[in-house]
Amino acid sequence: MIEPGHERGAGPHSVQPPPTGPHDHAEPRCWQCGYALSGLRVESVCPECGTPIYSVPPPPATHNDAQAAFVWGVIALALLFVCIGPLAGLVAIPAIIKGGRIVKQVRVGRLPAAAARGAKAGLVLGWITAGLSMAIVVGYGIVLLIALF
Ligand SMILES: [Zn+2]
Repeated sequence: MIEPGHERGAGPHSVQPPPTGPHDHAEPRCWQCGYALSGLRVESVCPECGTPIYSVPPPPATHNDAQAAFVWGVIALALLFVCIGPLAGLVAIPAIIKGGRIVKQVRVGRLPAAAARGAKAGLVLGWITAGLSMAIVVGYGIVLLIALF
């Protein structure tokens, strides 16, 4: 004979409770992608996005380098128009490097997408400045050639 509470299969009265509580608030989740991390060791990484399980979301929404890239981009473009002309292309280099680095980290999931906003803007401004600087240099070169011959 079988006791009612110890049946193995679904009895007529049992509602089949799931093996683990799905609405368990204590269930750990990846802060980056929301993947359920129960059963994983705390020193391993999220199998979905590779974020370390013990890590916490970075407090600032934007990364320092993202803002730096944006600032460098703005400065470079401003300098291009204000005074130093094609030399502003040199100032655009940090914007391109820092911005590119951040955009890449966001793409692989190391940084929140919010960090990419300033970085992308800085990257675009950096490239615009670099492009315009090149155009000015080429333009001067053409003018010089025309003047000489
Ligand atoms: Zn994840």
